[in-house]
Amino acid sequence: MGMFDTVNFYCPVCGASIDVQSKADDCMLKEYDRSEVPIRIAADILGEEFTCGDCKTKLEVSSPIGKYVQMYLNILSIGNSNES
Ligand SMILES: [Zn+2]
Repeated sequence: MGMFDTVNFYCPVCGASIDVQSKADDCMLKEYDRSEVPIRIAADILGEEFTCGDCKTKLEVSSPIGKYVQMYLNILSIGNSNES
């Protein structure tokens, strides 16, 4: 049996509820709203194509950030410090 996480979308044409599954993350059978998708799952399903089961419209998972996101480095600890 396959484990997966689910992102809940709505068809932009007919409004039908559409679930897109991802195996990218912990796959604890979690469900995410399309407005708060974890980045690893978003990267996994970005560009995925499927057909709406109700109105048969061809759809593609998209995102305003496209394929690139801004990244940065968090400072965990500064070197050359005498902590002892
Ligand atoms: Zn539809």
